[in-house]
Amino acid sequence: MTALPAAWADLADAFPNLSLGRRLKGIAELAGGAAVFTTSFGLEDQAITHAIAETGADIRIATIDTGRLFGETHDVWAETEARYGRRIEAWYPDTAAVEALVAEQGANGFRASVEARHACCHVRKVAPLARILATATVWVTGLRAGQSAVRRGARFIEADAAHGVIKVNPLLDWDRDRLVSTVALEGIAYNALHDHGFPSIGCQPCTRAVRLGEDERAGRWWWEADAKRECGLHFNHAAAGTASAVA
Ligand code: SF4
Repeated sequence: MTALPAAWADLADAFPNLSLGRRLKGIAELAGGAAVFTTSFGLEDQAITHAIAETGADIRIATIDTGRLFGETHDVWAETEARYGRRIEAWYPDTAAVEALVAEQGANGFRASVEARHACCHVRKVAPLARILATATVWVTGLRAGQSAVRRGARFIEADAAHGVIKVNPLLDWDRDRLVSTVALEGIAYNALHDHGFPSIGCQPCTRAVRLGEDERAGRWWWEADAKRECGLHFNHAAAGTASAVA
């Protein structure tokens, strides 16, 4: 899939004038039951989960448990399931692939090089994501343009040729202030780490708090000099053999 179908292009054009809830309803209507939202329980993801629950939009909610998440992430995961009375699909890395990875690079071998880090992200995140997306035709994410320079190039709706899905970023134009105030006003549950300097939360060994004035994603893989630090979910890194843009 390379070109965006006309109905999706029209929806993307309408997005600036739609609330988050109406954006999600529009996605669900066009997807016809084949949309999946992937959450890592960050502030953006919690706002989307809340809006899906509030509107009843027919969109599945799935997460990837990499095996290296913070305890606080599991806590907000459980709280979210309890609050909305629905199970969030849990997807895991392939056990044999993790065993082979750790046998080769050791427990924290991802710090040895960018290639080693990409290999870990590939096994623990990118491959499970590909399995999730094989079960859907539309992929909803919590990506925002303001999160980093790399993400500013994303679009509301785009054809993801590598996964054969339509990728939708319904929060793309939201700034962090709007997100934070929405979460506060609507009483949405959030990861406790957000109150301790973590605007972006991934795996525990690869996430630190950010300092004043730093990019929102500066705490992810902070030891790498390259500013283009992504896990391969949304953007390619050929070094890991990852096929696409997928987070
Ligand atoms: Fe591995 Fe770190 Fe990537 Fe998590 S974020 S999959 S621990 S390299």
